[in-house]
Amino acid sequence: MSHKTEITVARGDGIGPEIMDAALRILAAAGARIEPEFIDIGKKVYLAGNSAGIDGPAWESIRRTRILLKAPITTPQGGGYKSLNVTIRKSLGLFANVRPVQAFNPYVETHYPDMDIVIVRENEEDLYAGIEHRQTRDVTQCLKLITRPGSEKLIRYAFEYARTYGRKKITCMVKDNIMKITDGLFHQVFDEIAVEYPEIEANQQIIDIGTARVATAPERYDVIVTPNLYGDIISDVVAEVSGSVGMAGSANIGTTVSMFEAIHGSAPDIAGKNSANPSGLINASILMLLHIGQPDVAEKVHNAWLRTIEDGLHTADIYRPGHSVHLVGTAEFAEAIVERMGRAPERLRKWNIDPSTDTRIRVPGYTRQPAKKTLVGADLFVDWVGEPMDAGVIGGDLERLTKEAGGELKLKMITNRGVKVYPDGFPETFLTDHWRCRFVHPETVPAGEQTDYRPVVHTDVTHLMNTLTANGYEVIKTENLYLFDGERGFSLGQGE
Ligand code: NAD
Repeated sequence: MSHKTEITVARGDGIGPEIMDAALRILAAAGARIEPEFIDIGKKVYLAGNSAGIDGPAWESIRRTRILLKAPITTPQGGGYKSLNVTIRKSLGLFANVRPVQAFNPYVETHYPDMDIVIVRENEEDLYAGIEHRQTRDVTQCLKLITRPGSEKLIRYAFEYARTYGRKKITCMVKDNIMKITDGLFHQVFDEIAVEYPEIEANQQIIDIGTARVATAPERYDVIVTPNLYGDIISDVVAEVSGSVGMAGSANIGTTVSMFEAIHGSAPDIAGKNSANPSGLINASILMLLHIGQPDVAEKVHNAWLRTIEDGLHTADIYRPGHSVHLVGTAEFAEAIVERMGRAPERLRKWNIDPSTDTRIRVPGYTRQPAKKTLVGADLFVDWVGEPMDAGVIGGDLERLTKEAGGELKLKMITNRGVKVYPDGFPETFLTDHWRCRFVHPETVPAGEQTDYRPVVHTDVTHLMNTLTANGYEVIKTENLYLFDGERGFSLGQGE
């Protein structure tokens, strides 16, 4: 029990140093078995000419201790500075962002006194992979990547989290009624993993209605697991409706390294005034203590902190006449918590994690399952502006060209922004200069869900591309069409 865990600590910018000093003071008083090692990241490092805001020795420390307790940093104004959080998250594979948010009624004003939600958000994939292209004069695209290993790791973490911390229910939020393949995979993985945790109620909700319900009835939710973009939005909705944006901490969990921080920024407007609320960083520290297996210390900090809030010692951001007793500064708030170490709250919800629980959550490795992959065609995306813009013209021409050139692929349909415009399109459909032309084997029958696809080979696709290019068409992108164990690995066009 006396073994100390080395942790890397970044005191940050703005209010960072003040709230970090407060948090460390409290951790020391609670008997946290930690050995902090300090690094410089953020503004100073950016301004020294490092566009990432983090240098070699800092990376070395984080990768060695595997734990980063981080105060907020300031990204200097002006171009060229990369987001430090994104750099750390991506470089170290921090796949899960965990944000517990609860109400502290009546001490912090909220319409939802019973809310107590944990958002587990995927952190590396989805539209945030940052793969964007402008393909034509009219059209840009961003690639949405949802992977099986990424989804498995995250969703398993969410279930392990629920099991470890006695949470009863997990809601998976996606939009797989529209994105059947990407969000569909996330949902499918959720269903597969849920079976292994029968004691946890698992359900699913479409993200749009889910977000609306979270905003109006947050007390109905427990743990929410969701891909990156939805998670980004819903985490902020949850923090906002709790009324306690300044109180929440978050964990960014990786398979080796993890990072813990408050959800707010460096608040330069109040920096150096000893008035910032250190609660967000205190809560981040509690998440860190649980992660490194010190639930006994986490409990002490949590209860003493709640007791302080209950006793009405409040920093300016949450001070409300009638509910607050003393307006305190950052350092005084920390001292008040230290004085209450060993005491528990009377009104606010007490800690309910057994101190003997092993709170170190481990996520098992990924085993790739084999699947037979069969090439059955290709989507060629073509930049074309016709006079007039008529799908019949490009469709008829591509059919004629490919017939003349021979080969194993024929035009099945053309879509424009996903809507089928050839054959049998509507003249009302708006047309851009971006045409997705689907080619399959001529004997592929019939259209629709029950299609019997025939295999083709890669040289059929290159032959087709050469034919189009030689006839003046600009192919801006191709996507091969595959079956996986006989199942279609591509969506149908709207109206296909
Ligand atoms: P902010 O969260 O720093 O501040 C928003 C408002 O909330 C301000 O009025 C501020 O005074 C107040 N506030 C924030 N934390 C508080 C606390 N603990 N106690 C009392 N009041 C608090 O957001 P911002 O102003 O948009 O950003 C300021 C800087 O922080 C920017 O440089 C931004 O890039 C950076 N930032 C860093 C992180 C991070 O390091 N994780 C996150 C968000 C923003």
